[in-house]
Amino acid sequence: SAGEIGDKLNYKVFVVGGFVRDLILNRPNFDIDIVIEGDGIEFAEEFNKRLNGTINTYASFGTATVILETGEAIDIVTARREYYEHPAALPKIEKSSIWSDLFRRDFTINCMALQLNEKKFGTLLDYFGGLEDLENKKIRILYNLSFIEDPTRIFRAIRFAARMNFAIEEETKEFICKAISENMIKKLSEDRIREELVSILKDSYPHLGLKLLTEYGVINNLNSDLIIDADIIEKVQNITKSIKEFDSFNIEISKYKVIVLQILSSVNNLDEVMNLFFTTSHFEEIKNTLAHKNSIYEALLAENLDKYHLFTLLKGLSIESLVFYYNDCNDEYMRHYIMLYMLILRNISIHVTGEDLKKLNISPGPIYKKIFDEILKAKILGLVYSKEDELKFIEKN
Ligand code: ATP
Repeated sequence: SAGEIGDKLNYKVFVVGGFVRDLILNRPNFDIDIVIEGDGIEFAEEFNKRLNGTINTYASFGTATVILETGEAIDIVTARREYYEHPAALPKIEKSSIWSDLFRRDFTINCMALQLNEKKFGTLLDYFGGLEDLENKKIRILYNLSFIEDPTRIFRAIRFAARMNFAIEEETKEFICKAISENMIKKLSEDRIREELVSILKDSYPHLGLKLLTEYGVINNLNSDLIIDADIIEKVQNITKSIKEFDSFNIEISKYKVIVLQILSSVNNLDEVMNLFFTTSHFEEIKNTLAHKNSIYEALLAENLDKYHLFTLLKGLSIESLVFYYNDCNDEYMRHYIMLYMLILRNISIHVTGEDLKKLNISPGPIYKKIFDEILKAKILGLVYSKEDELKFIEKN
């Protein structure tokens, strides 16, 4: 129906960008970007009317978002070219052809368009060799200054390369290195950098993204305290498998948090580096988990470790910290203990309540907690089972 509306308004209508790329690759993609050669907002309003959606328009940009009843969002933009009236002036936006709209984009594989008007339905516009690069699995920029103009494209190139296992084309590679050596990454705000890193680490193959970020010197450029070696990359790769081992507990696990813990596992100067991955939340948790890592490993390997000690070591830790230790430690004994805690120890609880203690004429106070702890300990160590046992245990002690 988009094509029909375009025909009626006499505008050319195209679907562009990631949707076209993924359609050709046969990958699911529900982000639809439409470009109109004409008045994008007028088109969007008509489109919205027919589909009974909700519309947000941004008149000064000539863009709109239509949200369908199914929840899908369709972005509609007016084909435009940014041009400068004289150097250093703010860019003016003028209506222009689909060509210039595509030329503003990042990589050849992301700047193909499919026409939707009825008579030309399905015609592929591929001005920059995107199809060939898709076939050859190459990430290629459109013009030499691309990374200087927008350094976030350095991160985007790495994200797409990692996601699809594509190679970054040789010249593009050189331009990335040049932009980094000219300190272009530093021109981005902390927030932009964090968003791009998060996108890479939340994508399908974070270890590949991390590998590329390291190889290209992005990591070193961001913070020289952050050292990512082959061991960390391998451990990040293993996280998916480790998380699977925790599947049966039905606890939601933030894979991203585990990845960040793994990345930061050998950093000394955590305070500065954590900002790259989180705003301020989780800082304490990350610091504590990493600060206690070695002592926990040592305790887990100690010969006289009993179940209650194991319980006290691991209780209160977040699920992400537990998965991180499990993934990081590389030791079957330690893994076995972590699983013993997950499967059994963390679920052990006692029957006796405050009411029961009152009935035994024990007056309320800090003593209650002490008693409960002692019973729990006895229970974990297998010395008591039933409520009766628990009551007898209190009387005896
Ligand atoms: P994803 O599958 O991750 O959503 P995508 O290709 O759809 O990938 P978006 O970030 O949603 O990526 O961007 C949509 C389109 O906008 C891209 O395909 C690209 O053509 C263009 N684009 C986005 N960011 C930039 C940028 N920084 N520079 C140039 N073009 C960009």
